[in-house]
Amino acid sequence: MKLVHTLDELREITDAWHNAGEVIGVTPTMGALHEGHLSLVRAAKAGSDRVITTIFVNPTQFNNADDLDKYPRTLDSDMAQLAPFGVDVIYAPGVDQMYPDGFSTTISISGVSEGLCGAKRPGHFDGVATIVAKLFLQTSADRAFFGEKDFQQLQVVKRLAADLNIPVEITGCPTVREADGLALSSRNVRLTENGRKIAPALYAAMQAAGVAIKQGTPVHEALSEAERDILAAGFAEVEYLELRAENGLAPLGTHSEPARLLAAAWLDGVRLIDNIAV
Ligand code: AMP
Repeated sequence: MKLVHTLDELREITDAWHNAGEVIGVTPTMGALHEGHLSLVRAAKAGSDRVITTIFVNPTQFNNADDLDKYPRTLDSDMAQLAPFGVDVIYAPGVDQMYPDGFSTTISISGVSEGLCGAKRPGHFDGVATIVAKLFLQTSADRAFFGEKDFQQLQVVKRLAADLNIPVEITGCPTVREADGLALSSRNVRLTENGRKIAPALYAAMQAAGVAIKQGTPVHEALSEAERDILAAGFAEVEYLELRAENGLAPLGTHSEPARLLAAAWLDGVRLIDNIAV
């Protein structure tokens, strides 16, 4: 497993792999790795000859300076976690590699990036699309693996690759959860002990709403009840809780499959997101 910080070094390695006809799989991450990330690495290993895990805390996708400052950076433990998986390269570029002086390009995707996380995090998906496009081009990935945990991001990335004809096959991997249902996230470590106990209420309420909607409860009723339950459990705010079409993410006032229930809610000053198929 090789730790690479510069694009020149990365290109030398990937050129040799391509010349040998090897398929390159990439798992883009911001580090602070947990089992959710490792599930992507497992999928990449199974579906590629070579695997690159990228670790880059991308400043342009943070619209809150405090969130960027507090984002955990744990390269040593990330490397230790990746070692048993046979990852070939960890690509951890510096900010100057990704955004050199004079950098002026932004990729902006309409439609799927609007509403949900796009509404309250202006510029977030522009930052995601731009950095992911750069990572695809820098790594010359044949395959890339993203978590359904960030469902809107997965749709944005699929749109990006299709619209810009980037020859990379995108695979979405299921959300990995704690035993009590809380979706794994690098931000979970910022929850207090009490907050950690409250946090699974988000998924529980979403599941109950999903069942109710499938049994015919009107969507707005099921969502209002879920929001009440989330707040009653101790969350400070429900930023959004919406039923959307799985393909294209159009808002749904009534249930039609395949649909996705998506939520963001605040607890202990931490913004948690989750989504389920309905
Ligand atoms: P991040 O480091 O948070 O940017 O996440 C990097 C990748 O890991 C993204 O594709 C995420 O969707 C994915 N990921 C994060 N948490 C989970 C999880 N609990 N289950 C599955 N994938 C995840």
